[in-house]
Amino acid sequence: MDLFEYQARDLFEKHDVPVLGGAVAETPEEARAAAERLLPEGGGKVVVKAQVKVGGRGKAGGVKLASSVEEAEQVASQILGMDIKGHTVHRVMIAPAAAIEEEYYFSVLLDRANRTYLAMASREGGMEIEQLAVEKPEALARVAVDALEGIDVVLAREIAVAGGFPADVVDQVAAAIVKLWGVFVAEDATLVEVNPLVKTADGRIVALDGKVTLDGNADFRQPEHPGLEDEFSADPLEAQAKAKDLNYVKLDGAVGIIGNGAGLVMSTLDVVAYAGEEHGGVKPANFLDIGGGASAEVMANGLEIILGDPDVKSVFVNVFGGITACDEVANGIVQAFGLLQDRGDEISHPLVVRLDGNNAEEGRRILTEAALPLLEQVDTMDGAAARAAELAAK
Ligand code: GDP
Ligand code: MN
Repeated sequence: MDLFEYQARDLFEKHDVPVLGGAVAETPEEARAAAERLLPEGGGKVVVKAQVKVGGRGKAGGVKLASSVEEAEQVASQILGMDIKGHTVHRVMIAPAAAIEEEYYFSVLLDRANRTYLAMASREGGMEIEQLAVEKPEALARVAVDALEGIDVVLAREIAVAGGFPADVVDQVAAAIVKLWGVFVAEDATLVEVNPLVKTADGRIVALDGKVTLDGNADFRQPEHPGLEDEFSADPLEAQAKAKDLNYVKLDGAVGIIGNGAGLVMSTLDVVAYAGEEHGGVKPANFLDIGGGASAEVMANGLEIILGDPDVKSVFVNVFGGITACDEVANGIVQAFGLLQDRGDEISHPLVVRLDGNNAEEGRRILTEAALPLLEQVDTMDGAAARAAELAAK
C-alpha cells in the first residue's frame, strides 16, 4: 500500500526523522484553521500541498505557498478538487514553509532483482528521480544494504558521501538516513523515499516530501496499517472482497472469473480475453482466486462479489480439482446457490462451469443432477471460455 505524503510525514515524525509540522484539510476552512496554527513556524508562510498518490505535484500546480490565512484558504480551494494525472485531490496538507537552500534525494527500497535492499542518494534532489537516473546516472549513488546488517551510522555516512553530499551536512544527513532505515524496518516498508531532503537556510536537514510503500504481507503484525487505507480510492468491491479474505482484483470487462489457484486464474483471464475477440472484444471483469481448499461459503462469497459488479454479464467458474476434489467443489457450488438465495442475492447471470482434474466425473454428475438455473457445464477450458464470452456478448 502506498501512503499519502501526510501519512509518510506522520510515520517519519513517529520515528524521529526531522520533519516540519503538518496538518491535513479536506475543506478550505480547515486549511485556514491549520494555516493559522502553522504560519508562525513557517516564518509567516505556509505551503499547501495536494495529497494524491502520484509524483510531480509541484509541476502540476498542486504545491503552493501562502503568506496569510486568507491566501491559504484561497489556495486550498483551488487545489481541492483538482485533477492531477487522473487523481482527484480530496485533501491538502498544510505545512510551515521551509526556507530551502539545497534539495537532496534519498531512498531505500526492496531490490527484488538482486534479493537485497538498496539505498539511493543524491545531492541533486527535487526533480523527478527517474529523470536524474536516466540523464545523470553518475549523480545517483546506489548502495546495497544487507538485510541483517541494516544501515548503521557508518554505512549511512558512506551513502551520503557516495551521493556527493556537501561535507558540512554529511553528519546530519547520515543521522537522518539511520532514522529513515528505522522507519523502513519498524513499519515493514518496501519503499521509503524522501525527495526533497532539504538543507534549510539555518542549516538544518529536513525531510520535506516523503513517499512510503508498506508491505501488506506484514499487516498481521502491523495493527495500525489497515487504518491507513484510503477510503476515497479503494474500489468498493475490492474492499468488500478484502474484508472476506478473497484475492480479488476488479478489471473492466464483462466476464466474471472464479478459479482455484492464481496461475489457473491468470491463464483463464488470457483464454477469456482471447475467446472474447470473436465476440466484439469481450474481456474478463475481474481476477478472483478462491484458493485450494475453497468451501461452499468461500464460493458463495466469491459469486456474491462478482455478481455485485454491474459490468458482469456472465460468469466463468474454472476449477481444477487437486487437494479439493471436483465433487467437493460441485457441492460447494450447489450450496453457494442456496446461500445466495438465503441472502436474497439470487444468481442473476448465466454461469459457465468447467470442472477438471480430481473426481471431475463425479463433480459434473452432481451439478447435472442439481439442475441449477442459469448454470451450464462445458468440459474444456477453451470451450467454457468461448461460451462465457458468447453469453456476455448477448
Ligand atoms: P512533488 O512535486 O509531488 O514531488 O512535491 P514536493 O513536495 O516534492 O514539492 C515540489 C517542490 O516544491 C519541492 O521540490 C520544493 O522545491 C517546493 N516546495 C515544497 N515545499 C516547500 C516549502 O516548504 N518551501 C519552499 N520554498 N518550497 C517548497
Ligand atoms: Mn517530491
